[in-house]
Amino acid sequence: MSENKIPYKIYLNEDEIPKKWYNLRADMENKPAPLLNPGTGQPMTAEELGGVFCEELVQQELDDTTPYIDIPQEIQDFYKMYRPAPLVRAYCLEKALGTPAKIYYKFEGNNTSGSHKLNSAIAQAYYAKKQGLKGVTTETGAGQWGTALSMACAYLGLDCKVYMVKVSYEQKPFRREVMRTYGAEVTPSPSMTTEIGKKILEAHPGTTGSLGCAISEAVEVAVTNPGYRYVLGSVLNQVLLHQSVIGLEAKAALDKYGVKPDLIIGCAGGGSNLGGLIAPFMGEKLRGEADYRIIAVEPASCPSFTRGKFAYDFCDTGMICPLAKMYTLGSSFIPSANHAGGLRFHGMSTTLSQLYHDGYMEATAVEQTSVFEAAEQFARCEGILPAPESSHAIRVAIDEALKCKETGEEKTILFGLTGTGYFDMVAYEKFNNGEMSDYIPTDDDLKAGFAALPKVPGQD
Ligand SMILES: *Cc1c(COP(=O)(O)O)cnc(C)c1O
Repeated sequence: MSENKIPYKIYLNEDEIPKKWYNLRADMENKPAPLLNPGTGQPMTAEELGGVFCEELVQQELDDTTPYIDIPQEIQDFYKMYRPAPLVRAYCLEKALGTPAKIYYKFEGNNTSGSHKLNSAIAQAYYAKKQGLKGVTTETGAGQWGTALSMACAYLGLDCKVYMVKVSYEQKPFRREVMRTYGAEVTPSPSMTTEIGKKILEAHPGTTGSLGCAISEAVEVAVTNPGYRYVLGSVLNQVLLHQSVIGLEAKAALDKYGVKPDLIIGCAGGGSNLGGLIAPFMGEKLRGEADYRIIAVEPASCPSFTRGKFAYDFCDTGMICPLAKMYTLGSSFIPSANHAGGLRFHGMSTTLSQLYHDGYMEATAVEQTSVFEAAEQFARCEGILPAPESSHAIRVAIDEALKCKETGEEKTILFGLTGTGYFDMVAYEKFNNGEMSDYIPTDDDLKAGFAALPKVPGQD
């Protein structure tokens, strides 16, 4: 059998780590819609964005024509500490499922932050340092992004201020301590340290916060403190660009063995890991060189793609950020307490939103008990304890492999295993105790969020 030649883990050599990021937008005919200034309704200029973001990151954000962008040597060197990430053939899972499908996963959890977020954190911190800034501010929900950014800032000697959604700050004290160990200052959000935080607390006393609130606070601190800029761990084009290392490595590894995936699956919160994983494959699809079925998986409790509207919306609750045209549930939508904290954002990457709108990819929503069932099945045969976010992709990969078992098709499935779940044991405990529930918003719940969408002249 020829497939015996494929090892359990396909590693690339160190010199095969990508030296350029791939900018998917360069190959898109319909470009993602520009960010708009919420005051004027006009596209954000580089100068306006430069007040909030680092200069070079603004250039990357606005560049939708350059296909390949050099990865600076310092970032390449940092990547070498934890990359290349392995591409694993899930032989054990295939056997347990009894499927003729061939399953591969790209594992991004082999670093202390435990997820793919470090790929962009080091890039964003590098450009902040290069600009001579003192530090950066950000928000974190579940804590993976804050941890990754803390690591990158510690490495480069930058100050790092993290606004952590209060409910996570209280429920995940160890995440918080990891960030502090790397030197970050962590504040539970909403807080009394910002004007927007005070306003939110006044309007909603006792609120346990949301990502949208924490973004508003972090942006306020960046724009009111000289020498600071704001950085974001997902959603933005620049983040998808940095995350293209995931897909470029995965494709290089598969190419070594002449393997072509039929199906590519990834979880989608703000869209960065999925955008990165699919980048080179989607590029081929856009250029008409190959075809792949691509599936975004989101939680049924926060279904931006499958039940959201494709419209301009705010990225934050405080409505101070630029407007982005994306699949959104409305910036006022607060998802129920799903345990996949990294998937609880109301919106989605503008790039993925446009591709989905144009029919280049599919999306599906899954319920969290079925996600944890898949997570346990995976952990027991493949060994890795997956993050709840990643397990959304596992769920759909297993479902697709089981369909192959029925039809006898030997499809090749590639999915993104974005991280590990060591800090999510409260969620696993709930599942193991049979106390986990599935909350799916009603149409009325969603209506309220849509009603609060901003009116943008000339746009819908
Ligand atoms: C943040 C996170 C996600 C979701 O974010 P995307 O930007 O959609 O990739 C998924 N998995 C893990 C482990 C995360 O930390």
